[in-house]
Amino acid sequence: EAESMQFIYDFEEGRRTDKGLLGGKGANLAEMTHLGLPVPPGFTITTECCMTYLADESFFDTQLKSSIMNAVHKLENKTHKSFTNTIDPLLVSVRSGAKFSMPGMMDTILNLGLNDQRVQAFAQTTSLAFAYDCYRRLLQMYGDVVFGIPKEEFYDLLSNAEQALAKKTDSFTLREQEEVIQSYKEKFFSRNLVFPQDPYEQLFEATKAVFRSWNNQRANVYRELNHIPHNLGTAVNVQSMVFGNSGDQSGTGVVFTRNPATGEGHLFGEFLLNAQGEDVVAGIRTPAPIAELKEQMPTAYADFVHYAKVLEDHYKDMQDIEFTIENEHLYILQTRDGKRTAKAALTIALDLVKEGIISKETALNRVSPEMIDQLIHPVFDSNALKDAELVAAGLPASPGAATGVIVFTAEAAKDFSNMGQKVILVRQETSPEDIEGMIVSEAIVTSRGGMTSHAAVVARGMGTCCITGCEALTVDEQNKQVKCGELLFTEGDIFSVDGTSGKIFLGEIPTVIAENNEELKQLLTWADEVAQLNVRANAETVLDLTTAMDFGATGIGLARTEHMFFGAERVLEMRRLILADSDKEAQDALERLLTFQEEDFYQMYQIVQDKPMVIRLLDPPMHEFLPHEPNDIRQLALKLGKSPLLVEEQIRRLQEANPMLGHRGCRLGITMPTIYQMQVRAIFKSVIRLQKEGQTILPEVMIPLIAEKEELLYIKQFLTSTIEQVFAQEGIEPLPYELGTMIELPRACFIADELAKEADFFSFGTNDLTQMTYGFSRDDIGKFINTYTEKGIMQSDPFQHLDQNGVGSLIRVAVEKARQTKPEMCIGVCGEVGGDPDSIRFFAEIGVDYVSCSPFRIPAARLAVAQAAI
Ligand code: ADP
Ligand code: MG
Ligand code: MG
Repeated sequence: EAESMQFIYDFEEGRRTDKGLLGGKGANLAEMTHLGLPVPPGFTITTECCMTYLADESFFDTQLKSSIMNAVHKLENKTHKSFTNTIDPLLVSVRSGAKFSMPGMMDTILNLGLNDQRVQAFAQTTSLAFAYDCYRRLLQMYGDVVFGIPKEEFYDLLSNAEQALAKKTDSFTLREQEEVIQSYKEKFFSRNLVFPQDPYEQLFEATKAVFRSWNNQRANVYRELNHIPHNLGTAVNVQSMVFGNSGDQSGTGVVFTRNPATGEGHLFGEFLLNAQGEDVVAGIRTPAPIAELKEQMPTAYADFVHYAKVLEDHYKDMQDIEFTIENEHLYILQTRDGKRTAKAALTIALDLVKEGIISKETALNRVSPEMIDQLIHPVFDSNALKDAELVAAGLPASPGAATGVIVFTAEAAKDFSNMGQKVILVRQETSPEDIEGMIVSEAIVTSRGGMTSHAAVVARGMGTCCITGCEALTVDEQNKQVKCGELLFTEGDIFSVDGTSGKIFLGEIPTVIAENNEELKQLLTWADEVAQLNVRANAETVLDLTTAMDFGATGIGLARTEHMFFGAERVLEMRRLILADSDKEAQDALERLLTFQEEDFYQMYQIVQDKPMVIRLLDPPMHEFLPHEPNDIRQLALKLGKSPLLVEEQIRRLQEANPMLGHRGCRLGITMPTIYQMQVRAIFKSVIRLQKEGQTILPEVMIPLIAEKEELLYIKQFLTSTIEQVFAQEGIEPLPYELGTMIELPRACFIADELAKEADFFSFGTNDLTQMTYGFSRDDIGKFINTYTEKGIMQSDPFQHLDQNGVGSLIRVAVEKARQTKPEMCIGVCGEVGGDPDSIRFFAEIGVDYVSCSPFRIPAARLAVAQAAI
């Protein structure tokens, strides 16, 4: 099969759709070539070659080599240069590029093809100083990528030379440059390595090194973090060089077509004069804003503006473009859809719709549910900010607000975070090696680097708050301290970081929730237009209900009545009821609870108004309401006028060996019907009261933990008669209402057709259903689930992401059975996974009517629901 495979594609051959085969960079280089943009010619070695080589190294010599040589010959013809001769030397870059962009994960080698002789030849067309600069860079990149010698060792050699000579690299004499080059070569010798003089050998070894880098540690970590499969491989792009380091009419830069932090519609980026390659992203020299290019090189700037527009119109999205200018001549070296903050994603998506470039549906897919989470996340309380002590300010690289202890290494970040601390990673700059530490940090601060530095790009991608280029800070990573003017801070001190303003404050600052902005409302309105299932909230307190309504819940899927018993006054009455010695005492407690609950429901219905609200009757085991400390028990006995010993004894009797499988849910309703009776009385009294005030309500009452049809029948019977009594007492005509049940036991799923005969609606309680299906205690799974996911035994925590194969199958069966009995029955899902985007896709597929989740997850869920429908 390998015979028929095409190993290499010239840039003229590919298209943007070939990302799988050519990698993102290669496919886009091909696309730009096709569009007629000024792209230096080159070719792409496929990702398939990478995977083939990684499986069998002999493939390289037996098959790939000759193809590469052919491709180079073609490139020589195209450029009228030679890769081996000493006249008109062809130099190339060797660039990795996987299907999904993995910034900084795999390295690039520039100026490849230079050697001791060719550097002289190369100097003929340029200058020797320039040629040496290129050669030195090649040695360093080759040493790093192919031989694995840390870049820093080369940087050290260079800065030692700078110090010894008391001047900057640019002012070195030829002699001095030669000496640096010699010292680089000696670095190789000292490791028993030799820099190959044969350009082809350089190219082959560089290609293999890029292939191998697919499997390096930081690439693996990045793929894990971003759920990128490990078997895709990277392509290798070989491209003829253009030189941004050939003088002051040259330079290199990285520009976004719109602001990737705010979404504003103007060019945003940086460039460096007389610089090559990664000088911009590495944060070694501080680059100038792209707007300044307009003054310095107006023609090149105008060209850039033109091509930026061409690219954006063509890709119909904000582009992240890398370019180089050689003697005022512009070359485009890379384009891709730019990474952006949540805020920017939203603004850009809406603007592109306004500009007629994309449809509303496309816009909905341009923002992810995770981004919505970021948009509604906390910001610092503006009042507290006024009094906060400012430490320093840098570039607002990624918005957000975070407080934590400062640490100076990725290691320390991991250690502190493992101990449960929130950490702020403070460094001179970050590099891909720091990735694991960056993941666990609440915020990242660097003293160097621009808005497109490694720290900035990675943080924006992760939605982590980040400040870069905070030059007032002198970070001493070794001694674990940072200086700022007179101030000295050490590891463990607390900083508050505002990624939106770029400011760093001392100590902790309280946060508040960001305003629910107009743009978000607009997007979510579009989401609701295409949605095929509703999003309700799990909420019962006034605050949560109000938040839920503000976030656009279509109703309440789960109002848990037990949460209303937790105030001090109320819990006392609940305790009085549970511990009552006489009917009278129980009756009194119930009366008082009735008053509380009626008032609760009255308030709740006022907030949700005409929207549906499912109220669940009491669910947890009784002992959850009781004290367990001897002292608390004594206090309680005193308040209730009972003997402490007797109370203690009563409480002991209520203890259960396995409470989650015990005396709870409908089982309480059956053994202590008075509680459920009191609850429905409160519900209906409040409904009637509101009815009289002109509000029409369809009460929906839900009975938890049903396993048996008879359980449901028994409870329904006494509830129905209680409700009729209320109507009679209030002297009104019976109102319509619904009695439904929660499906949260596997048995209930299997008899859903039977239960559907007696229930007006169903709601899947996925927390209990997962617990009961797996036999994992939802309160204890934290003790082992990480081991499970680390060892690959399970992909994720089934309480966070629905287990579609197991629990999901049960739900699917139950929905099918229920609809056999009652095709139009309203079926919902409440529980944690009701707010999880992946799970929502599944629920949409099996045809439930709504998902219900906690209020803060509603905006993201609304978007997820729309995306499931597109
Ligand atoms: P990354 O994936 O890390 O961005 P690239 O392959 O894009 O790596 O290379 C980094 C930088 O190297 C580019 O932005 C560009 O400035 C420079 N570069 C790559 N190829 C060439 C080339 N053929 N000529 C000049 N500069 C190049
Ligand atoms: Mg690049
Ligand atoms: Mg439950």
